[in-house]
Order: sequence, then structure tokens, then C-alpha cells
Amino acid sequence: MTAAVVINGQVLAEQVRFDLKDKVALLDKTPELAVVMVGHNPASEIYVKAKERACAEVGIISSQHHLEEDASEEEVLDLIDSLNHNRDVTGILVQLPLPKHLDEKRVLYAIAPEKDVDGFHPLNTGCMVQKRENAFVPCTPKGIMRIVHYAKEDITGLHAVVVGRSQIVGLPVANLLLQENCTVTIAHSKTKNLPEICREADILVVAIGKPQFITKEYIKPGAIVVDVGINRTDEGLKGDVCFDDAYGLASYLTPVPKGVGPMTIAMLLENTYQAYLKQNRS
Ligand code: NDP
Repeated sequence: MTAAVVINGQVLAEQVRFDLKDKVALLDKTPELAVVMVGHNPASEIYVKAKERACAEVGIISSQHHLEEDASEEEVLDLIDSLNHNRDVTGILVQLPLPKHLDEKRVLYAIAPEKDVDGFHPLNTGCMVQKRENAFVPCTPKGIMRIVHYAKEDITGLHAVVVGRSQIVGLPVANLLLQENCTVTIAHSKTKNLPEICREADILVVAIGKPQFITKEYIKPGAIVVDVGINRTDEGLKGDVCFDDAYGLASYLTPVPKGVGPMTIAMLLENTYQAYLKQNRS
């Protein structure tokens, strides 16, 4: 078995931005992404800056709406309401995690579905599951699918194992893989015989938030391995997959950093462009 092809998410994301920049330039009006942040989470601040830079690159305006750590839920909801009604605002993103005293679901569900570029509103979740045209697909799962397709165009009949069942990554990506005719297994913290199950995967997507948890006994030779995890450790940023183990076994592999992360941001830009088209349909 030869070494895996390492998929450079930065290069794929650059291509998406390149294509998008031309399309955005042709619009009558410049789309605007409103980013809502509550408090001062250092990791969130890095992500928000990266999103701001990416928007600038493709010609999307990004406006920052920063509330203090102790902002009340009513203040956050009032801000979202005003952004919902602001005709200049195309997309709204609430940077997670929110401070503990805020009800995350209540805040996310307050975003107008047509501006929900993160795709977390239940209406968009429902539309995605029902394969409705123009549903907003959450950015990380959408980016993962692009990566999988970079490795293999037709994934019909492949066995995909998704480790993690969160609303924002595991569940939606499992659904998208199913829509493309994979046989899908969803594993989680209560799953028994996880290494055996993972070893059956032609496509292994790991989103658990445990640094280097997936080692060689979890990987089928030749598998496409997508590492979604972002874990801050004393040795720097690490994925959920032990890169060195996977490198010798997988056919394709995403690194951390520079794997899924940049594609997530690129998909956010695509969703903002899609929101503009939706809102300006004649
Ligand atoms: P959550 O904490 O919401 O979900 C983690 C999931 O992993 C849960 O379903 C949990 O199972 C499962 N899990 C935890 N431990 C184990 C285990 N030992 N064996 C099997 N399953 C396990 O995390 P997210 O989905 O939000 O994020 C996952 C990772 O992806 C994180 O590192 C996060 O930082 C990263 N991430 C990266 C993004 C990117 O752009 N690259 C975007 C979003 C997230 P159970 O349901 O039973 O508790």
C-alpha cells in the first residue's frame, strides 16, 4: 500500500473563492454577511477573523456585531431581529459557542431561514433532509462532501462510517452521504466495537473532538479518511485522527490544520451567495 494522497483543503477552498469572486462581481448589489459574536472566546475570534478575510477576498461585505459576554438573551434576539429586517444583510451567522447563560437553539432558530447561511435552522434541516432544491446545507458537512468528491466522484454503494452524531457535523454529513447512495453507519460514544465498525469504512468521517483518537486499527487499507476534529493541544492543533497511522493506510486523507477547516469557510461564502440569489429571485 502506498502513502495516502493528502487533500489540501486550502487549495480546494482557494478554487471555490476564485470561482465565487467572478460570480459575486456580476451581482447588482454586494452581498453582506452579518457575523454576531457574544463575549470573547479566543478561538471564535480567530475563526471570525478568518471569515472576514475570506469575505473580503470574494467581494462580500462582512459586518461584525459584537455583544458583551453578559449580554441578555433578549439583547441577542433583538440584534438578530434587526438583522433579519435589514434589507442590506444577506446572511446571518451566530458564532458558536455562545456563553452558557444563552439558549443556543432559541438564538439560532431566531434567524430568518432565508438568511440562515449556517443552515442550522430546523426549516433548513428539514429542507436538506427532504432534498429540497436551494436548502442551505450546513457549511462543514457541505465542505466534507466536496472533499469526498475530490477523492472519488461516484460514491454509490460505498460504505461510509461517520463517527460523531452532532447536529452540525455528524448527522447532516451522514444524511448527505446517504443521499449519494452510500451505505451509512453512524457511530457515537455508546457504539460498541468501534474499531471493527470503522475498519469496514470505505469512507471514514471522524468528528468527535478527541485528539488523535483514530489510530491504525480503525482504518481499512485504501479508505478515504476525512478528519473533522480541531483539538488545541500542547503540541498545537490536532485532528481526531492520528495522521501518521492514517497516512500509511488511507488512499486519501485530510490533514489538520488545512483540511476541512478552510472548506467550511469557503462553503459559508457559497451559502451567502446562494442566499443572495434566493432573496433576489425575480
Ligand atoms: P460534539 O461534541 O457536538 O459531538 C461529538 C460527537 O462525537 C458526539 O456525537 C459524541 O457521541 C461523539 N463521540 C465523542 N467521543 C466519542 C468516542 N470516544 N467514540 C465515538 N464517538 C464519540 O462535536 P462537533 O460535532 O461539534 O465537533 C466535532 C469535532 O469537529 C470537534 O473537534 C470540533 O472542533 C470539530 N469541528 C470542526 C469544524 C471544521 O470546520 N473543521 C467545524 C465543526 C466542528 P455522543 O453523541 O454519544 O455524545
